[in-house]
Amino acid sequence: MTSQDTEHEYTLRAPRYAVIQSRQVCWRCGHDTPVVGLLVPAEHEQLWIDDDPDLDEWERPDSASIVSHVSSLPATVLARLQAASPHYRMGSSKAAGDYFINHCVECGVVQGDHFLYGEPEGAFFLMSEGEVEATRATAIDEPFACRGDPSYSSLIDLLAQRVWPA
Ligand SMILES: [Zn+2]
Repeated sequence: MTSQDTEHEYTLRAPRYAVIQSRQVCWRCGHDTPVVGLLVPAEHEQLWIDDDPDLDEWERPDSASIVSHVSSLPATVLARLQAASPHYRMGSSKAAGDYFINHCVECGVVQGDHFLYGEPEGAFFLMSEGEVEATRATAIDEPFACRGDPSYSSLIDLLAQRVWPA
């Protein structure tokens, strides 16, 4: 399952979610720009896509997840993200095609998810408890769905425990 799969409108769903906010130094102009992302709790479900569509199945991982390369979102969720940052909108990256991408508040260039989520300097690549602390998260008690790529780590679980204390 990847974000390139376009047959399924949504591949991930959850009873609630959080908008996460951090800051990223723009790779082009060096401006410190706000960026937003999505966190879902351990109760989320992800669609396991089989070669035989009759065998597609919703699975329930035991961990919270941060979702990247989001290519489909309900309007309600997009509105929440854009309320936090109007610079989050559909855009294009050479590496991964069209998806919802953060854009630099100063120069407008895309801040691609590969960099934000996949590189140590990336705003949403959580490397330490200090970075978890520095990530702002706003819990939203509304149903969630998207098509995107979930990622998992013990630090993501730590962030989720802060958002949704047991
Ligand atoms: Zn910039």
